Amino acid sequence: ATALIWFRNDLRLADHPALRAALEAGYTPIPIYIHAPDEHASWRPGAASDAWRQRSLAALDRDLRRRGSHLRHFFGPSLATLQSLILATDAQAVFWNRRYEPHIERRDTKIKQTLRGMGLEVESFNSALMFEPWSLRTKQGGPFKVFTPYWRSALANWKEEPSWEPPASLPSTREGPDGVPLAALKLAPERDWAEPFWSHWTPGEAGAEAALQTFVDGALRGYTEQRDRPDRVGTSRLSPHLHFGEIAPWRVASALREHRSAGNARDVDSAVRELGWREFAHHLLHHFPETPEQNFNPRFADFDWARLSQPRLEAWQQGRTGIPIVDAGMRELWATGWMHNRVRMIVASYLTKHLRYHWRHGARWFWDTLVDADLANNSLGWQWVAGTGADAAPYFRVFNPVTQSEKFDPDGDYIARWVPELAGLPVPLRFAPWQDAAQLRKHAPDYPPHPLVDLAAGRDDALEAYRKLRD
Ligand code: FAD
Repeated sequence: ATALIWFRNDLRLADHPALRAALEAGYTPIPIYIHAPDEHASWRPGAASDAWRQRSLAALDRDLRRRGSHLRHFFGPSLATLQSLILATDAQAVFWNRRYEPHIERRDTKIKQTLRGMGLEVESFNSALMFEPWSLRTKQGGPFKVFTPYWRSALANWKEEPSWEPPASLPSTREGPDGVPLAALKLAPERDWAEPFWSHWTPGEAGAEAALQTFVDGALRGYTEQRDRPDRVGTSRLSPHLHFGEIAPWRVASALREHRSAGNARDVDSAVRELGWREFAHHLLHHFPETPEQNFNPRFADFDWARLSQPRLEAWQQGRTGIPIVDAGMRELWATGWMHNRVRMIVASYLTKHLRYHWRHGARWFWDTLVDADLANNSLGWQWVAGTGADAAPYFRVFNPVTQSEKFDPDGDYIARWVPELAGLPVPLRFAPWQDAAQLRKHAPDYPPHPLVDLAAGRDDALEAYRKLRD
C-alpha cells in the first residue's frame, strides 16, 4: 500500500515524523510537494523565500534519489491535487507535518476532514516545534503573553526527543503522475538577483547540519556576549534552515545541550533560550492569529503613525537613510537575504520611531526580502520593537542608532563592509558621518549628506505621539 507524504515546511528526511510513521506502518511513501501560493491568504511567500525554497526542494529531491525515491512537484490547489493523486496512485493514506500559520491551519483542517470523509487514513505530525502552540498553558489555563513564564513552563516540561535517521534506501513506486519539473514551479527569480545569496548559504538538510556543526564548534562559545555583535559571526545563522524545516529544533537543542560544560553553560542556555523565542512566537501566533496584521496591544489603535512618504520608505528599504548602521543593515538584507538580529532591532526602531511609520510597512518589506521570513517570528519581532506587541519593549524605548553602532560595531567594521563608501572615514565618523560634512563629501560624495530625519527631532516627535496616546 502507498501513502502520500506531503512535504511542506519540513524539507528534510531525518527527524521527519510523517515519513517515519508511513514507513513504520509499512506504506510505500510517495513524496510530493504542492505549490499553491494562492492558499497563503495575504502572506504569499516573498521572493527571497521562494528562491530559498527552490534550492531546498532540489536538495530534498537529491537526498531522496540517493535512497531510490524522488520528489514529485505539482501546482495547487492542494485539496484537488491530493484527491487526483490519491486516485492515480491508489494511495490509502496521506501524511504530513503541521504548519501553524492561521490560514494554513484552517486549510489543512478542511483537507483532513475531506480526505477522511473519502475513507483515507490521514495523519498530521509535529516536525517544527519543541512545544506545539497549544501544549503549554498558564495556571489559569490560558495562553502565555509574557516570555519568561512561558519559558519557565517550557523548561519544566522539557522532554529530550530522540533523533531519527531515515533508512539508506526507501521503498518507491512509479505509480501515478510524476508532476512537473521543479523549474516549472517558477520559484527562482527570472532575473537571478538571488545568485549572490548562495555564497552565504547552502539551503537543504546537509547545509542545515553543517551550519549547526559550525555553530557548536565555533560561535557557541561566547554566544551570550557575541550574539549582539553584527561585525562578528556570533550567531548560528540557522533561521532559514529552521523556517523551512531542514533541521528539527529538538536536534539543534540536543546538539547544543550535548556541548554544555562548566565553561559554556551560560552560552548554551542563552542559545537554547533563543530557540525558545521561536517557540513563543508560534504560541502567540496560534492563540492570537490576528497579530500579523493588528497591534497586539489594542491601545495602539489610535496611535498617530506618520503619513507614509514613498520616497522615505524607499530610502529605508534601499539603505539610503544617511544613518550608517541602518543603511548597513538594509543593504546586508538585500545582498544576503538575512540581517543580524541586533540590526533588525535598530532598523525596525528607526522605521517605527524616528520615521514613525506603522510597523506593518517594515514587516512587509522583511517578508519579501528575508530568506528566513516567518509569519510567527516576523510578527513578534516587529510588534516587539514597535512596542505594540505581547511582552514588547515599551514604545518610549527609542534606540539611538548612533550609540547602538558605537556599542555593537565598535570598530565600524560592519558599517564599512555593507556601506563601503564610508570605509575611508575615520572610525568615530563612520557612526555619524554628517558631523564632518567636508570629509563626507570627500570620501563618499554619493552618500546622503544628512540623515533623513534629525535623530533628536524624530525621537521627540515619537515620544510626543506616545504621550498623546497616554493622555
Ligand atoms: P541565533 O541567535 O543563532 O538563534 C537561533 C535561532 O533561534 C534562530 O535561528 C531563530 O530560529 C531563533 N530566534 C533567535 N532570535 C529570535 C527571536 N528574537 N524571535 C524568534 N526566534 C528567534 N526570525 C525569523 O526566523 N524570521 C523572521 O521573519 C524574523 N523577523 C524578525 C523581525 C524583526 C523586526 C526582529 C527584531 C527579529 C526578527 N527575527 C526573525 C528574529 C531574529 O532576528 C532571527 O531569528 C535571528 O536573527 C536569526 O539569526 P540566527 O539564526 O543566527 O539566530
